[in-house]
Amino acid sequence: MSTRTKSNAEKNLTRIMFEQYQADHQAASKGSFVVWVAIIVPIELLKGFDLVVAVPENHAAMCAAKGIGADESRKAERLGYSMDLCSYARIDLGTVYDQGRGSPIKGLPKPDLLISDNNNCSHLVKWFDVHHRQMGVPHFVLDVPFCYGPQQEKDRRYIAGQYRDLIHTIEQLTGQRFDLRKAREALRHTSEAVGHWKRFLGLAAHRPSGITAFETFIHMAPYITSLRGTPELVEHYRILADEGRERLARAAFPVPHERHRLLWDGIAPWHQLRSMSSRLAGLGANVIYAPYTSCLGAVEGGVDQVPYDGSDPVEFLARTQNFSICPYGLDLRFRAMSEMIERFGVDAVIFASNRSCKVYSIMQMDLKRMISERFGIPTVMIEIDHADVRMYDESQAFRQIETMLEMGSASRDRTASQAGSPRVNPA
Ligand code: SF4
Repeated sequence: MSTRTKSNAEKNLTRIMFEQYQADHQAASKGSFVVWVAIIVPIELLKGFDLVVAVPENHAAMCAAKGIGADESRKAERLGYSMDLCSYARIDLGTVYDQGRGSPIKGLPKPDLLISDNNNCSHLVKWFDVHHRQMGVPHFVLDVPFCYGPQQEKDRRYIAGQYRDLIHTIEQLTGQRFDLRKAREALRHTSEAVGHWKRFLGLAAHRPSGITAFETFIHMAPYITSLRGTPELVEHYRILADEGRERLARAAFPVPHERHRLLWDGIAPWHQLRSMSSRLAGLGANVIYAPYTSCLGAVEGGVDQVPYDGSDPVEFLARTQNFSICPYGLDLRFRAMSEMIERFGVDAVIFASNRSCKVYSIMQMDLKRMISERFGIPTVMIEIDHADVRMYDESQAFRQIETMLEMGSASRDRTASQAGSPRVNPA
């Protein structure tokens, strides 16, 4: 049994997530209007109403992290859904079919409205459409243009128009009036929370890094639930950042003998968080940064936060809709990774190729080549599904990773000896 003591941030995370899920179930049982949203639907906008907001992708990630992703997926596969479908969708469909019996939180309360978007992936729309047909509830689809660079004005107006339609739709379905003041307040909370989040991520710049990206995978959870836009989120990220800074001050590094500073390109490997991070640590390697979690609060491949400026929430949310990685074109993905490599002194990259998520994986081969050419650092591509452990071979993945790390060490030794100086361990 593990004797590792939980940090204050970890304890707080468990508490706020549990309380939120419990409160959602209770509110739904008393008749609250329940909305299921895709992960990048702007929750702050929905805070202008009195709703229960649930995120199936977040629930699926939690199932995977708790080790039951494959069990829930199998339930969907027995209904005829292919293993080639996204594992988030399979987990969610399996959980709904089994009425939440296998879920750690008994599934999500039944929805009255579904809201998806097509700029993470079009698969999401089809997945929510299954619920729309089977549960007989309305499905609102946000059509968000793909993102190849800075957002164009016509795209921003197009997105804002759909947000206004969404507000109107919810007003009609619920009989509630949209409260602009509440949406504004939610945006202020999110902005403050992201400020702390960026403080925490910034600790990766230290050598050895003050954090691992695995911590950011774990702690991104409340951001993608209805905790977004709340004081609880602000407080959670404040605790996380303060604790991280305090840990750094007493030189308590996650990987004290850090020889390899890695970047992770892909969705979090939910079923491997502890085992992969500790096995990497044993090799002197730390995944210090990941676009998947650094994109929160930024836009279009940037690392820095775009703080809320107090403007009309509809306009601001339309402007910042393109924060997540999936809708980026190749150039934007490359620019984002390049900035992270330079700013945080990354010396190798793990590309997590994921059959579930085609949209994230499809351009990784090109990115891998571009990163190698531009930075001359070793890279590796491993096969790992984010939520279905059956699509991961740990021995194979670590054989590849260890080879990459050896190449990195050899290349640094060569550079040091050519410079005629003894090798300096960056740790
Ligand atoms: S395919 Fe990828 S982007 Fe689409 S829902 Fe699954 S994980 Fe998300």
